[in-house]
Amino acid sequence: MALQVYNYLTRRKEVFQPIHEGFVGMYVCGPTVYGHAHIGHAKVYITFDIVHRYLEYLGYRVRYVQNITDVGHLTDDADEGEDKVARQARRERLEPMEIAEFYTRSYFEDMDALNVLRPDISPRASGHIPEQIELAQLLIEKGYAYVSNGSVFFSVRSWPSYGKLSGRNLDELEEGARLAVNPDKRDPRDFAVWRAAKPGHIMRWKSPWGEGFPGWHAECSVMAMKYLGLPFDIHGGGLENIFPHNESEIAQSEAAYGKEFARYWILNNMVTVNGVKMGKSLGNFTTIKDALARHSAMTLRFFILSSHYRSTTDFTAEALDSAARGYERLIGPVRLTREKLRHTESDGEVDAAFAEVIRRHREQFVAAMDDDFNTPQALAVLFDFGREVNTLLNSDRMVTRATLEAIDTLYRALGGAVLGLIPDKLPTSAEGGLEVQLIELIIRLRAEARARKDWATADAIRAELAKLGIVLEDRPEGTTWRMTQ
Ligand SMILES: [Zn+2]
Repeated sequence: MALQVYNYLTRRKEVFQPIHEGFVGMYVCGPTVYGHAHIGHAKVYITFDIVHRYLEYLGYRVRYVQNITDVGHLTDDADEGEDKVARQARRERLEPMEIAEFYTRSYFEDMDALNVLRPDISPRASGHIPEQIELAQLLIEKGYAYVSNGSVFFSVRSWPSYGKLSGRNLDELEEGARLAVNPDKRDPRDFAVWRAAKPGHIMRWKSPWGEGFPGWHAECSVMAMKYLGLPFDIHGGGLENIFPHNESEIAQSEAAYGKEFARYWILNNMVTVNGVKMGKSLGNFTTIKDALARHSAMTLRFFILSSHYRSTTDFTAEALDSAARGYERLIGPVRLTREKLRHTESDGEVDAAFAEVIRRHREQFVAAMDDDFNTPQALAVLFDFGREVNTLLNSDRMVTRATLEAIDTLYRALGGAVLGLIPDKLPTSAEGGLEVQLIELIIRLRAEARARKDWATADAIRAELAKLGIVLEDRPEGTTWRMTQ
């Protein structure tokens, strides 16, 4: 089996073949930093964190570039929109770069909490103004763009393959574009590579066409080109940006640089709330910070990974509760394995039969991930493995340290390094989520009941916890617990 990825450019799964042996260049459209990131962002960046981690697991050296949009993203698609960062700066009476810096820090804080590995390069749009001016110049020279009233527009009509990623044809586009006609454009479907700054617009730079600022799509073209070279392997982002953003990125890059842009377009589907897209403009969003106040980071991560990245993810209280239980179920056998490792002295080889169980599950996990990063299937494999581990460790069979270590190694590699869900140090009562702390509190109260020989209470607690799917085991060294499968 080889890794297969669904490529939006061809609308089918393809075997992944990097341009340069052993190396993968990946560009992902980053956040626009004018507010705290929400659960929709968590899905995008956890999705590409998984792509990043899995490619590294397969042995590739990955260069991951993810931009920070601090200029150029307008409040709506119409040409009269206001720059999102500039608008926030005006509202908060701050410098635009203060807004951008504040929310960039907030974004990384959230991503760190969710165990999303940082990209190798996080270039800022405002740090690449000369490159974006150069892109506009190249397009003008080659006849793909024109200057009008201090702005530079890409002429969609000059580029016949415009629409190849989103599958839209030019006639359909004309219908939509007629609603918002900008008199500076020759054709309503044309898009800005550079925009003239109106009086009072606070983010502006000098250009050959007067003071202005770059169009949103321009930054991704120039930063991908600068840090990855063309063509590069993977371009990622949220499916909602396939048009006009990604479509325009491809057109202007291929027109300006005369080379293919990106090989594989991997795009994730949205997060919904009661079936409606979660978005800042719709006001139905939950910030990652708010979600982290109510759920553990690992519950949120588990929640995102329990649906496939190309499916929609519905954000509901029930789904989060079920993710919390699912996560406890996932780490139950890991906790048991590590606890046994602390107390087991027994030497000897890895149990031969169990070595085969480990091999089989590793293979199934890789097969799931090779199938377009199928994380729900990969989690199902880990659950199945967990059942085997529980059965082994709860049996009377003697289990060697080597076997326990082999189990833990599998968890660290697949659940830890690839999925980012099983930390090297598991949450304990001191640092775990509220649920873990409550379970351990109940266990302590039960231990007190047993100490005063109140067997009725101890048994009742055990029976009630069992109804909730929490199984207690009394051992000489103390009581342990796990979630049933
Ligand atoms: Zn982009």
